[in-house]
Amino acid sequence: MSSTLPAEVLYGINTIYCVRCEDRLMQCRIKGKVLGRQKREGRSYNPIAPGDRVAVIPDPLSTREGLIVEVLERKSSLTRWNKKGRATQVLAANADLAVCVSSPGSPPFRPRFIDRLAVAAEAGGLEPVVVLNKADLPCPSEIRERLEHYKRMGYRVLTCSARSGEGIVALREALQGKTAVLVGQSGVGKSSILNSMSPALQLKVGELSQKHDRGSHTTNYSSLLLIEGDLRIIDTPGVRELELAEILPEEVGFHFRDFTPHSSGCEFQPCLHAGEPGCAVVRAVERGEIHADRYESYLRIVRELQDSERQGRG
Ligand code: GDP
Ligand code: ZN
Repeated sequence: MSSTLPAEVLYGINTIYCVRCEDRLMQCRIKGKVLGRQKREGRSYNPIAPGDRVAVIPDPLSTREGLIVEVLERKSSLTRWNKKGRATQVLAANADLAVCVSSPGSPPFRPRFIDRLAVAAEAGGLEPVVVLNKADLPCPSEIRERLEHYKRMGYRVLTCSARSGEGIVALREALQGKTAVLVGQSGVGKSSILNSMSPALQLKVGELSQKHDRGSHTTNYSSLLLIEGDLRIIDTPGVRELELAEILPEEVGFHFRDFTPHSSGCEFQPCLHAGEPGCAVVRAVERGEIHADRYESYLRIVRELQDSERQGRG
């Protein structure tokens, strides 16, 4: 039997995975048995994701090809529900940080997207980080206040501008030595940030319509980029919707940090904070101690998960 080598998955296109193995890149397929086992376990839409640690058997005839025979257990996974595929999609495996990239305008700032990503990150074992790019553009006071609020809740918040270079060094430092997955709507400037951290990447920057052209491989799949200076970044394609996966409605509240000081005061335990009498979270919202928009975010996530439970998704 041939011996296996440890490798790390950079990206996959269709059923071919590009892995880094002993400092060289290899194109690998997955052994049918491994794939079958993962399918039976209902593992996901994409059985292998960027950042996955795998064992490969190199092809005896080619140093550039091999076969993935095992996927090692993940220490973290950032997932979402893929509506079209009707399955959980793993955006990134084994990452430490989930960096939510946002912008003050074009596209608009969406705090509810940040709330969702923060829940998905924590539930999957990653630390959420909030980044506001395009700091060279005017930033309305409501957005500044929301960012301050995220900081008060204990999230790391960074602002930067890929255009002016402001804050890029600090962002680089925050990511150094870790594996970070960048998530955000198309157009927030993920590619521009990556280019400004490493011009050699030469990622395509521009409008949604151009970048998502058929045939362009630049940003329509997640990919682990190994950048000089100890940066390991998983770039995801523009994520517009982040429907949560692999979390129960009753677990969502644990990831709303601002609810925690209040939730033990709810009359019913456990409390879903969604209409039960004597709910201390709702009282805190009424007193203005919990941001009303955070509560709205929470309710939307819980209702969406309840709906999907009713539809028998598991
Ligand atoms: P992505 O879809 O998230 O990868 O975003 P891109 O990097 O392709 O950028 C989308 C658009 O925003 C492009 O027109 C960029 O030139 C612009 N952009 C990116 N970063 C900044 C920035 O810091 N400031 C300003 N004003 N525009 C930016
Ligand atoms: Zn409650």
